[in-house]
Amino acid sequence: MSYEAVIGLEVHVQLLTNSKIFCGCSAAFGGAPNTHVCPVCLGMPGVLPVLNRRAVEYTVRMALAVDGQVAHISRFARKNYFYPDLPKGYQISQYDRAGEPLSTGGSVTVETDRGPRVIRLRRIHLEEEAGKSLHGEPGYDPYLSYIDYNRTGVPLMEIVTEPDIRTPQEASACLAHLRQMLQYIGVCDGNMEEGSLRCDANVSIRKTGEPYGELVEIKNMNSMRALERAVSYEIERQTETRERGETLIRETRLWDDGARRTFPMRGKEQASDYRYFPDPDLVAVEIENRWVEAIHAGLPELPAARAGRLEKTLGLSADQSRTITETRTRADYFETCVTHHPDARAVFNWMTSELPRVQSEARLDTDALTAHIPPAHLAELLDLVREGSISGKIGKDVLDQMGITGKTARQIVTEQGLTQISDTDALETLVVRTLADNPAEVEAYRAGKTKLLAFFVGQVMKATQGKANPAMVSEMLKKKLETM
Ligand SMILES: [Zn+2]
Repeated sequence: MSYEAVIGLEVHVQLLTNSKIFCGCSAAFGGAPNTHVCPVCLGMPGVLPVLNRRAVEYTVRMALAVDGQVAHISRFARKNYFYPDLPKGYQISQYDRAGEPLSTGGSVTVETDRGPRVIRLRRIHLEEEAGKSLHGEPGYDPYLSYIDYNRTGVPLMEIVTEPDIRTPQEASACLAHLRQMLQYIGVCDGNMEEGSLRCDANVSIRKTGEPYGELVEIKNMNSMRALERAVSYEIERQTETRERGETLIRETRLWDDGARRTFPMRGKEQASDYRYFPDPDLVAVEIENRWVEAIHAGLPELPAARAGRLEKTLGLSADQSRTITETRTRADYFETCVTHHPDARAVFNWMTSELPRVQSEARLDTDALTAHIPPAHLAELLDLVREGSISGKIGKDVLDQMGITGKTARQIVTEQGLTQISDTDALETLVVRTLADNPAEVEAYRAGKTKLLAFFVGQVMKATQGKANPAMVSEMLKKKLETM
């Protein structure tokens, strides 16, 4: 198969502002239908939109995070189409022409199977969200359609990539990367199930050296996996169509994740179908350099830079650094913990293997887990293990109880007398007794079955409910057995 796929993404991002983009209504998710509405977002005649400054700030923040060029002057346009969930009969958006969108250019570097790949961005613009049509929802007349305008006018940022993506895996890696950045800079919650992050893909195929093929836009992918599956399916469908000698047409297709296929939805619109024109109710947006600089100064350290720093300063591997910086919350937890406990690798191991176990066993969400086991408490537990006060095994039990009770490690260890027995005299007595109680095994050990050492250690640990220092016990047993 000598076809190459050419893929570009259009990512729609609901911004985490308190109010909508052109009115003061709440932009919060949910709420009883049509309770977050006013004459402006319902498109009543004679109302005037007023631009939300925070929405512009968030868009500039993302533009700066991906090295985009922020426009000094930017404009809003009306994109005209008729649909019941669009009360004005047009959507306020930004036209794809120089000087119109808030940001142009920029790029992201995405980790893929083939190593790091640079995906260029074409533009980032700001627009308003449409409403939501309800058909056949429980509690509603199944023969009628209903419309909820709560989402109408929620600020939506659209990020458009250049067609630099070549495989389905690269497409989902690119979306995952963008989602991570959006969450890091705090402009979107990245929740694909609730629709606050959505992605359309433009897919075409060509033989090497050919110009770009006819573009097919696929919509309705609401998870990373769905995006990957939809793009794979579409590449295969287009390849088969061409192999049969048929011509591909420019169209919009809908992905059905249950049926695992795309369906034709409509012919792909050209920009001219929307009769874009500048919105006469909104003046051009002028963005001062001073403001851009202030937003830039307020950007947090981005994931790639943070992972690099942790790798260099704390001796984590590249993989470990990437894992621990996956979300900002996790990276913050890790860094706070490391300021209290110096062994970064131990912190990493406990955070990635033990904490998730405790979280699922105690059925806590991430916030509750952090409330029960704040970073300083985990650090204290690791101190106790490191200095030998408790064994690693007891440490895990203590962590379980911390998750449930919210108590500190020291509290639990003291209350339950869990301190590891490292007292030589106490251990000596136990070792002697264990050997006396098991004469047959002692005989066998001395005849060469040295594997039995583990059995003796086990007996001592059992007698102390796991509190004996296993390394010391093992050492003492060995000495005793050799000199007997
Ligand atoms: Zn409103």
